[in-house]
Amino acid sequence: MQRELEEARQRLVERLVHEGYIRSEHVKRAMLRVPRELFLPEDLRHLAYEDTPLPIGHGQTISAPHMVAMMTELAELEPGMKVLEVGTGSGYHAAVIAEVVAPSGTPREKWGHVYTVERIPELAERARFNLERAGYSDRVAVIVGDGSKGYPSAAPYDRIIVTAAAPEVPRPLPEQLRPGGKIVIPIGDRYMQYLYVVEKLPDGRLKKRPVTPCIFVPLVGEHGWREHESWV
Ligand code: SAM
Repeated sequence: MQRELEEARQRLVERLVHEGYIRSEHVKRAMLRVPRELFLPEDLRHLAYEDTPLPIGHGQTISAPHMVAMMTELAELEPGMKVLEVGTGSGYHAAVIAEVVAPSGTPREKWGHVYTVERIPELAERARFNLERAGYSDRVAVIVGDGSKGYPSAAPYDRIIVTAAAPEVPRPLPEQLRPGGKIVIPIGDRYMQYLYVVEKLPDGRLKKRPVTPCIFVPLVGEHGWREHESWV
């Protein structure tokens, strides 16, 4: 089973390269390295290398591998960067980000760090377990809370990656970003979402660029959608 999964992982990564989702060596290396099966419920492991989102409980999903690849490429990460992820879910995307900013086998003093915020405590707990078992707990901190407010304690960040759809860029996020930093974020409602790259220019202004239509679960929080309000 293990060998089959590894072969399936290689085939998927080759396909994502061929389809243009993976463009850089470091994202390719990270996706070859992180075992997606360790971030899935036991009964779904055999689907780990299908290019599709999968349920992880509490009405939430692990994103499809092509979306993880695309968002990671758009963020233009480099080793040593400090990254905030909003929406930990299973912890898989956080592990992929960690493998780029703090690559396994490189000196720890050069490692960057990933802070990832999840609003559902049970998912955060499970993600911590997954990350530990996959060998990323020293590079990724999982925080329970409302990530629409960011995570000011570790700010400023070089990059922010949001993996749930917001009505607009949550105001606290650019405030917690370094000038020259980037936010990758899906913006929109249930019917229509676009993935955006938002750049914070040296003078603090934001430059927003839509990239592609997408489908994410809602960002629920003070600067996202309200829990009982319209996810219209
Ligand atoms: N990145 C995840 C992975 O690799 O499995 C997939 C994330 S899933 C598409 C979106 C996640 O965002 C869900 O786990 C959801 O509970 C979480 N979420 C929604 N609103 C949030 C908020 N305000 N703060 C933190 N997490 C939030």
